[in-house]
Amino acid sequence: MKKVVKFIQETFSTTEFIPLHEPKFVGNEKKYLNDCIDSTFVSSAGKYVDTFEKEFAKKVGSKYAIATVNGTSALHISLLLADVKAEDEVITQALTFIATCNAISYIGAKSVFVDVDLDTIGLSPKSLKGFLEQNCEVVDDTCINKTTKKVIKACVPMHTFGHSCRIQEIKEICDEWHIALVEDAAESLGSYYNGKHTGTFGKLGAFSFNGNKIITSGGGGAIVTDDEELAKRAKHLTTTAKIPHKWEYVHDEIGYNYRMPNLNAALLVAQLEKLDSFIISKRDLALKYEEFFSSNDDIDFIKEPDNSTSNYWLQAVIVKDRRDEFLDFTNKNGIMTRPIWKLMNELDMFKNSQCFNLDNSKYLEQRVVNIPSSVRL
Ligand SMILES: *Cc1c(COP(=O)(O)O)cnc(C)c1O
Repeated sequence: MKKVVKFIQETFSTTEFIPLHEPKFVGNEKKYLNDCIDSTFVSSAGKYVDTFEKEFAKKVGSKYAIATVNGTSALHISLLLADVKAEDEVITQALTFIATCNAISYIGAKSVFVDVDLDTIGLSPKSLKGFLEQNCEVVDDTCINKTTKKVIKACVPMHTFGHSCRIQEIKEICDEWHIALVEDAAESLGSYYNGKHTGTFGKLGAFSFNGNKIITSGGGGAIVTDDEELAKRAKHLTTTAKIPHKWEYVHDEIGYNYRMPNLNAALLVAQLEKLDSFIISKRDLALKYEEFFSSNDDIDFIKEPDNSTSNYWLQAVIVKDRRDEFLDFTNKNGIMTRPIWKLMNELDMFKNSQCFNLDNSKYLEQRVVNIPSSVRL
């Protein structure tokens, strides 16, 4: 463990505290922010929101992108647009960040948990298929959970730490079972599966630009889709459902104030310009970690899965035993490390949710630890 601390200090060229992930502002951030302030358009209207939406859609290869106030709201609206309603069920992975399940709950829908794959740490197509075959049937083009008699409306896989899950297989299963695919791509900007950007396989995909993500607007999110109608609805719903008019306030449904302020978009446009260089740095760091941990029998570095390219947003290792000792020793020595999330079905709010076999999730929950991952310039 002493060797690990020494290696990370050398890699980040410091013996001071090393955080898990810190943002880097080395481009046009100040210029665009000043421009924004000088123009007085700091809030809900302004050119940076439009610029960002265009540039972001181009970057991920989707037809449309809609900026939102954070990633959770992007997920919430994506699920609404996938026609998820109160009392419907949504399948997701038990090993995810809370925001995935919070968004499902905001609609009054119920999370159902399946397992992840050991290599991708993302939703397992095998587990999904197993769950559907054992518990569900399609009636009139609708997937019904035979145990609860409820409709399974959507499936939300998550690309954990920027590693793509087997999203193509998941998409095929969802199509077969008449389930809408919504991707939680909050962590995977710049990650691809078979050359196609994560978040663009499903009907809708949600991204986050929170302070700890690969690029940040302080807080922010985006919805992507190829469907023009859904894109229009997403913009409408996230902007209080106001009908455009020179002076009148007419709203045609209950909308949300989920728009991204121009100030945040200005920051984000500058950050997006730097994304490629951030990914190069992260992939280089991953190589260094991989080589270092290859000589350690107790710790395995988590590499990008087959058929994919990872942004390596958060670097992660599997500490085979004595994980808590590893966490304690590294944190005491100024190296920030953190265990992966608790399984969602272990939290009070979701303890009654239906679960399929979660062996892989349980294995990873006990062993996965994130290690310093910041971009080094
Ligand atoms: C960060 C994150 C979100 C939500 O993002 P916010 O912008 O913080 O609301 C959703 N899902 C996952 C998996 C995340 O990591």
